[in-house]
Amino acid sequence: MQDWLKQKLLGLLVKTNGIISQPLFGGVGFILCFHRVLPKEQHSKLFGNQGMAASPEYLDWLISFLKKKDIDMVSMDEVRRRLLEKDFRRRFVAITFDDGYADNLTYGLPIFEKHNVPFIIYVSLNLPNHSMIRWWDMLEDKLVSGDEHEFKFPNSIINIKAETISEKIDAWWQVRNEIIAQESKLSRAELLGLFGLDEEMNERFTQSVALSFSQTKELAQHPLVTIGTHTVNHLPLKKLELAQAEREILDSKIKLEEVCGQEIKHFAYPYGSPNECGEREFGIAERYEFETGVTFQPGNLFPSNANHLFSLPRYAGGDYVSEEKLSHIINGVKHFSEHY
Ligand SMILES: [Zn+2]
Repeated sequence: MQDWLKQKLLGLLVKTNGIISQPLFGGVGFILCFHRVLPKEQHSKLFGNQGMAASPEYLDWLISFLKKKDIDMVSMDEVRRRLLEKDFRRRFVAITFDDGYADNLTYGLPIFEKHNVPFIIYVSLNLPNHSMIRWWDMLEDKLVSGDEHEFKFPNSIINIKAETISEKIDAWWQVRNEIIAQESKLSRAELLGLFGLDEEMNERFTQSVALSFSQTKELAQHPLVTIGTHTVNHLPLKKLELAQAEREILDSKIKLEEVCGQEIKHFAYPYGSPNECGEREFGIAERYEFETGVTFQPGNLFPSNANHLFSLPRYAGGDYVSEEKLSHIINGVKHFSEHY
């Protein structure tokens, strides 16, 4: 669609406040994706409210707002059931968390308990076993710590001079894209070397924020919580050989089932954009008998998603998703702007 036409239509959809957009693009529900739950003062130094964290106050507001809008907040089991049984009498949303941070338990759970609302945590095994390299946080810490940096990749060097916050944010994206492009070829030592860290320092860095296995089990037994999996090593699956991608998915399922003492039925693709997951990965999730798979591609849920349970879309969540932004998700304006 031509840009001027799209802007005109978007303006019309916003002005008519969902009356036109909701029946066309609002669908039957949607899924929100969060990562961390942290008090505001602990939010990202670079990205602030735009970062990976939601504050407990925000979650409290979000749930109250969705209740006021008369939208059901449901588990992923229930998302699947409603899609398969075409039970669209009421609109619904599922709230999801990726990776497996301890703050989901300490700061998040009490809010969900207060409202009696379910949620799912997709655990990447290398968080509870402390081997995850949280390079996105290391990168932020490094950029915040000074203005000039050198990142030595095996075949290239990126030199950064970034003084202002906006320059540091641009630098973060530049290095981030290079890391993702090279991640499957970089050794752990090479990746850690970008930040001057070794395995022991990394273990401490990850342990400080990760759910432990016993906390994961405790959460799995909680009536409001579902544990899903998010692979073993949080790698971009599409860039891996088939056998390695299969192992990443299957091994995480087997280990988490052992830890939680229950079947793990739901899966989230690491990073989740079309660069990191596609038909091959959706097929693996289906073959290994998961019941749903969620991506990180924005979009509302429609009845047709019943035929695509292994590539369900999700919207990024966080404190920056204001009442206006959330309304645009609910009434389909956001779906239109992402898909047309
Ligand atoms: Zn993740």
